[in-house]
Amino acid sequence: MHKGSCHCGEIAFEVEGEFDKVIECNCSHCSRKGLLLWFVPRGDFTLRSSADRLASYKFNKHVIDHRFCSNCGAAPFAFGTDPKGKEMAAINVRCLEDVDLATLQRVPYDGRSA
Ligand SMILES: [Zn+2]
Repeated sequence: MHKGSCHCGEIAFEVEGEFDKVIECNCSHCSRKGLLLWFVPRGDFTLRSSADRLASYKFNKHVIDHRFCSNCGAAPFAFGTDPKGKEMAAINVRCLEDVDLATLQRVPYDGRSA
């Protein structure tokens, strides 16, 4: 179980599972925010705070709901569906506690061309 939060702490969450690789996407959105993503089934994600500060950002085809804190601006996770229609959460591992970013394998994803 991994605990995560935005910077100010208004948003807190937990994610079940383990990971050693993260997706580093080069699209205009991910590159600007520096997102390092771990994809999990939506049911493995649990919000542990109120949703009052949970703002939403959508762009392009509006298929992914990028959530961010309306107070501190951190972008800890996003919701969407995989190609088979299964509900997924994309966790920004930079917002998880106790993650050593230097040990993670970064898998490039060419979202810029997709
Ligand atoms: Zn915040």
